[in-house]
Amino acid sequence: MDHQQEHALQEIADRGIRFVRLWFTDVAGMLKSVAVDPGELEDAFTEGIGFDGSSIEGLTRVQESDMLLRPDARTFQVLPWRGPDDPVARMFCDVLTPDGHQALSDPRGVLERTVGRAADMGFTVVVHPEIEFYLFDRPVTPDHVAPIDNAGYFDHTARGDSNDFRRRAVRMLEDMDIAVEFSHHEAGPGQNEIDLRAVDVVTAADNIMTARTVIEEVALREDIVASFMPKPFIDQPGSGMHTHLSLFEGGENAFYDASGQYQLSATGRHFIAGLLEHARAICAITNQNVNSYKRLWGGGEAPSFVCWGHNNRSALVRVPLYKPTKRQSARIEYRALDPAANPYLAFSVLIAAGLDGIERRLDLEPEAEDNVWDLSERERRVLGIEPLPGSLEEAVEAMRESDLVAETLGEEVFDFVLRDHEKEWREYQEQITPQEIRRFLKVN
Ligand code: GLU
Ligand code: MG
Ligand code: MG
Repeated sequence: MDHQQEHALQEIADRGIRFVRLWFTDVAGMLKSVAVDPGELEDAFTEGIGFDGSSIEGLTRVQESDMLLRPDARTFQVLPWRGPDDPVARMFCDVLTPDGHQALSDPRGVLERTVGRAADMGFTVVVHPEIEFYLFDRPVTPDHVAPIDNAGYFDHTARGDSNDFRRRAVRMLEDMDIAVEFSHHEAGPGQNEIDLRAVDVVTAADNIMTARTVIEEVALREDIVASFMPKPFIDQPGSGMHTHLSLFEGGENAFYDASGQYQLSATGRHFIAGLLEHARAICAITNQNVNSYKRLWGGGEAPSFVCWGHNNRSALVRVPLYKPTKRQSARIEYRALDPAANPYLAFSVLIAAGLDGIERRLDLEPEAEDNVWDLSERERRVLGIEPLPGSLEEAVEAMRESDLVAETLGEEVFDFVLRDHEKEWREYQEQITPQEIRRFLKVN
């Protein structure tokens, strides 16, 4: 056992922890959990602990249902919402096959493989996400979706339920060693945002899974509903998960060049060019639900077109303003992601797209200087600005053609996602919506 594993066992003994939850994520992005007796952990660290993977979405074929979970001791944390009595801890796990290999269908494993590719090129990947979400009064039904307040962007309200909510959620995250950089009210009523500090990309994905759980736990305690649905209202902004990304090369920010335009290095420019090249093909992963496309095409500062810009909020990739002295914070912001995505898979395809741009030394087109939503279709065509997919169906078509996405996800995950999304699209298409009844059912 290594030092981290010993530390976890010591904490368990010192705090009298009787249950440890082993966490992992299915291909659809749902958090899965199995509680084990601490006595099992020593074996779990060395050999893994067996479970039946056949009932987990996309994890394995039925004929190979036995799988192993191997906890990552670096992720050991006590769950703060459980309180001090009868404490419970959690660890994220890697999923292995019975012969000890990384399971091909484990999203965390997909990201670790991709991180390995970046490492082969000399890079570590650092990410910070901006998580947006809505808070609703209970009960929520299809006819009744009521935000908990009427505040707007950065509003500070004296009697703000959202203020209390954010404070509680941020405290809990910090109790779990997840540092929060900002939190504020967002533009929609009841809409809030919590921005996590930049960390290595696997930890960032783990932190997103934890943050979603913490936000849901706090909401439960306040008797309200937290939702990461990308676009709950026609006439209010959707919830995105803007992703800030940078590559480091031996402690140096590889995106920083004091003499580059916006202090962006050639590596940074190639990385953006790769993101733009593959933006349509990776969209079914970064925006995985039917509803995601309502956000992308519903205004409210969500991106609809494939272009980059400097401080241009209509662009898909934004290069935030840097202070020239802040070389470590040089980064790019990818604005398509939404908080319903599987963060492990979404970060994998983003990194793979960017690295492809670096490997092929792709040239970056000139930036979009205008608000691209205000240009005519002809103007956009002249500038070579393509639209993002208009629907999940279009996104699936674009992904199906992509060798990059297939190689990054691996055959199992790639096939599962295509099948799963096609099913979701068919179910959606069969619906007769209230809008159709209003419009087409004529009552004399
Ligand atoms: N809520 C917007 C979106 O859907 C983003 C607003 C912002 O710039 O933070 O992407
Ligand atoms: Mg925001
Ligand atoms: Mg942002």
